[in-house]
Amino acid sequence: MNELWAGVRSELEARVGTHNFATWIAPLDLRAIEGGSADIACPTRFLSDWVSRHYARPILDALSNQGAEVERLNFTIATGARPAPGTAAASPAPAPEQPAARVPARGIMGDDEMSAPLDSRFTFDNFIVGKPNELAHAAARRVAEGGPVTFNPLFLYGGVGLGKTHLMHAIARERQARDPEARVLYLSAEQFMYRFVRALRERTVMNFKELFRTVDLLMVDDVQFIAGKDSTQEEFFHTFNALVDQGKQIVISADRAPGEIKDMEERIRSRLSCGLIVDLHPTDYELRLSILQSKTELFRATYPGLTLCDGVLEFLAHRITSNVRVLEGALQRLFAFASLTGHDIDLDMTQESLADILRASDRKVSVEEIQRKVAEHYNIRLSDLVGPKRVRTLARPRQIAMYLAKQMTSRSLPEIGRRFGGRDHTTIMHGVRKIEELRREDRSMAEDIDLLRRALEM
Ligand code: ADP
Ligand code: MG
Repeated sequence: MNELWAGVRSELEARVGTHNFATWIAPLDLRAIEGGSADIACPTRFLSDWVSRHYARPILDALSNQGAEVERLNFTIATGARPAPGTAAASPAPAPEQPAARVPARGIMGDDEMSAPLDSRFTFDNFIVGKPNELAHAAARRVAEGGPVTFNPLFLYGGVGLGKTHLMHAIARERQARDPEARVLYLSAEQFMYRFVRALRERTVMNFKELFRTVDLLMVDDVQFIAGKDSTQEEFFHTFNALVDQGKQIVISADRAPGEIKDMEERIRSRLSCGLIVDLHPTDYELRLSILQSKTELFRATYPGLTLCDGVLEFLAHRITSNVRVLEGALQRLFAFASLTGHDIDLDMTQESLADILRASDRKVSVEEIQRKVAEHYNIRLSDLVGPKRVRTLARPRQIAMYLAKQMTSRSLPEIGRRFGGRDHTTIMHGVRKIEELRREDRSMAEDIDLLRRALEM
């Protein structure tokens, strides 16, 4: 059984990548195979739910590649399963509570107690879940439930306006609602620094330390801010360790992965990496549309009697791809304009009143994206698309990709040439001209190119 599982594990590691492997597969243990069903022990319900939804197929495949006849996976929650890195099972038992050291329980701490105010709109109910944020949402929910700490810290990262702060507020609110006694502290890294510096100045560092070390759930938003701020980093590190040692949950957000935060001390970086790291991916069209639909419901209540024409939300979801905050701002402006002018919200009005936003968020496509899309479309390998082979079946798609790169990006011909396996700029120019010519002559080629362009603009 052990040998079989070892084989399965190494196969899965190659298939899902080291990071996913460490997070999802390493904690699992194969216990038995009986009647076509594999019994797999898993340390938490959260983990087993996620694994059975996202990794069942690869696990079944790997089992069968290793010669086991298995059709189903059966997960059991077992404390004896391998602890995931950084989980409660791997850290020392929580220290006993010391009531004397506790600041009186008052729920989410007031400003005097250093927590930042929570935005009442940032709840789980108002958070729209789609593929790009599915895992972040599930992990946030899990933390909000409280109970034994399963991963510490939860590290959420992603670009601006993708919902990190929203999720953190939602966690704080939900956790507090479930357990009014729990001490929940949410603040930005900037506020953390500001309070720390003030404590130094006012010689109240002991109070500062005590406060931060008696919380049950600490959430620090935008932690990249303290990179390079040495004494604050240091204090943060000690706070962090003290809480982890007590088995208290920590949630951190940043605009990039821990390993990519410059000027962050190595030991802090590695501490931050030992829990669950989840990224909020850029939104996709479907998620943007769902968010717009849900926000529209809210705006309708504020601005009753306005007409929103068909196609407007779809248009916005196509065109504003930068971030959710901009998307919301656009919708807000549309409703405000419409209520002032009495005009229906139609496409003309949308284009006119949002001209600046639309211009700013004109999607920037990269040469690499174009190459990937074109290769996919013509069903050829990316390496062949940029490679040296000259056969027609490769050369034509390659020229189309060159053409689109020239049209859709601001890269120069030599720059494009470099991205096409180091070709000369004259080769690129030749390719672009060729396609311009063919476009005029060949209708189906023109349609193909438009299709690709639209797919890339999405
Ligand atoms: P970040 O902290 O990642 O920069 P925020 O959490 O401040 O982003 O989100 C920016 C805005 O977009 C907020 O108003 C938030 O409510 C909204 N938002 C982001 N993601 C979603 C989502 N999935 N569903 C609903 N609203 C969202
Ligand atoms: Mg934020």
